[in-house]
Amino acid sequence: FVREDIRNIAIIAHVDHGKTTLVDGMLKQSGVFRANEKVDERVMDSNDIERERGITILSKNTAVYYKETKINIVDTPGHADFGGEVERVLKMVDGVLLLVDAFEGPMPQNRFVLKKALELKLKPIVVINKIDRSDARPNEVIDDVFELFLELGADDEQLDFPIVYCSARDGIAKTELEDESISLEPLFNTIIEHVPAPQGFIDEPLQMLVTTIDSNEYVGRIAIGKIERGRIRKNQQVAVCSTDGNIRNGKIVTLYTFNGLKREEVEEANLGDIVAISGIADINIGETIADVQNPEALPFVEIDEPTISMTFSVNDSPFAGREGDYVTTRHLRDRLLKELDTNVSLRVNETDSTDAFEVSGRGELHLSILIETMRREGYEFQVSRPRVIYKEIDGVLCEPIEYLTIDVPEEFVGVVIEKLGSRKAEMVNMASAINGYSRLEFKIPARGLIGYRSEFLTDTKGNGIMNHIFYGYEPAKGDIPERSRGVLVAFETGEAVTYGLYNAQERGTLFIGPGTPVYQGMIVGVCSRAEDIDVNVCKKKHVTNMRAAGSDEALRLTPPVELSLEQCLEFIAGDELVEVTPKNVRMRKRILD
Ligand code: GDP
Repeated sequence: FVREDIRNIAIIAHVDHGKTTLVDGMLKQSGVFRANEKVDERVMDSNDIERERGITILSKNTAVYYKETKINIVDTPGHADFGGEVERVLKMVDGVLLLVDAFEGPMPQNRFVLKKALELKLKPIVVINKIDRSDARPNEVIDDVFELFLELGADDEQLDFPIVYCSARDGIAKTELEDESISLEPLFNTIIEHVPAPQGFIDEPLQMLVTTIDSNEYVGRIAIGKIERGRIRKNQQVAVCSTDGNIRNGKIVTLYTFNGLKREEVEEANLGDIVAISGIADINIGETIADVQNPEALPFVEIDEPTISMTFSVNDSPFAGREGDYVTTRHLRDRLLKELDTNVSLRVNETDSTDAFEVSGRGELHLSILIETMRREGYEFQVSRPRVIYKEIDGVLCEPIEYLTIDVPEEFVGVVIEKLGSRKAEMVNMASAINGYSRLEFKIPARGLIGYRSEFLTDTKGNGIMNHIFYGYEPAKGDIPERSRGVLVAFETGEAVTYGLYNAQERGTLFIGPGTPVYQGMIVGVCSRAEDIDVNVCKKKHVTNMRAAGSDEALRLTPPVELSLEQCLEFIAGDELVEVTPKNVRMRKRILD
């Protein structure tokens, strides 16, 4: 059975290449919106943090109707994948739009998702956007895309990709550069013509893989996924096949499909539809919703084990809590448990202390995104330095090893190799890639990556891209370098400009947000070596210069200006960091005054 009336696609695009503008345009032109209705909700835009970091973490669904066909558009996570999400999302679709800026060309950041899409044998459509730019160079960009596809192992059919030239801004698309166009119609037509319609067995027992979970305080958990086989109805009794082989019963209370940016309640949905369902309170990502009589699970995407953990504890530093709104243990626990619903590769465990939790994830970035999100929501808490999770295998202590992929402009290759060498990385592969970038691949113990991201961004002037996936466990080598500890002191008064996350190497995590005031002499963190200071945290304007002190080496470099080392140390309670929160800053200011 072929669902001729449906096309399921994903969009792969680099930040700023125009994905949001294009989807807005498709929505406007597909007739979902009445002529005078403004599209003010930019749904594909995920959350603020994703945007600032240039990565997408959550995936969102949008649907547009073009003539008789419904096009479901799912957003793909960017290069950061913490729990097999990219693969799950791509399994819902039959084709991908690779959206590329007509001047900038394909970016290495998209390589990870693109490779997965090609491996899954999805049909690519290359959309060259911003052809209105005066510096557009569409033909060269297409050559670059072809090279990239070749390198990522595209098959002949995938290499013969259709091309759509587009100006999302002007709402036009065309399949030949010299064509005239006044709408996105050629894009819609290309999607309908080249992306296969979903097909399968509609009269066989139901199967739907839960790809994402959304939660809603009124209806509880909402499971989103594509119907792989059969049909589903509102109020239907279903079997839920969990990933460990257990089967339990459930009932579909509400059934939705997507329409525009909204969910729409429906009575029935069929094979090929992307649906959202409520009613199964304990549903999880990776589970299969199946027929009660024939409960057959679909293969689920393996989720990597956590490799790094940090302790989250209620903020009990001398500078916190005095002004009232500190988070209680219960709030912290509830928030962390809620995170587990959707953050599938995260683990939360109780600790010996009642007000501290051990949170484990797929790396420092994974945990730091959570920390940042929670801080933006107003939670105040302390975090310990990241620790590697060791594991005993056959009586041998083993440590996690990561497969690290790095894309950097050629001029930075030297410094990256040197730094990673000192962090026990072993180079596996090196190739020159697209757009003047070189690609380096390493095997590296997870401990060697701790604190590396900020160093890497500084070393590559923000131009490097790093991504790692779990490689395996290997016997731990007892060569973890001892690092001395230092204190980071601000010596100018000012305002932190970048929303940054400072990783004091192996000591903890520190946050400085835009507009966070920083006072002279204020301790803003702890670091282990002078070179660990991330000067990028505070960019040039209104800047606060940071200097490290504490380790002999750093002291020699830059003695703290206002405070003596002893005074600095007074503000650090044991191993804890003093977080730069507005409240702590006010507190400190008072003490300094
Ligand atoms: P996203 O990050 O991929 O979602 O990109 P946006 O849709 O937010 O677009 C990024 C920037 O590019 C915005 O300033 C858009 O106005 C601009 N933009 C998008 N499409 C076009 C286009 O076709 N032509 C030009 N000149 N600018 C565009």
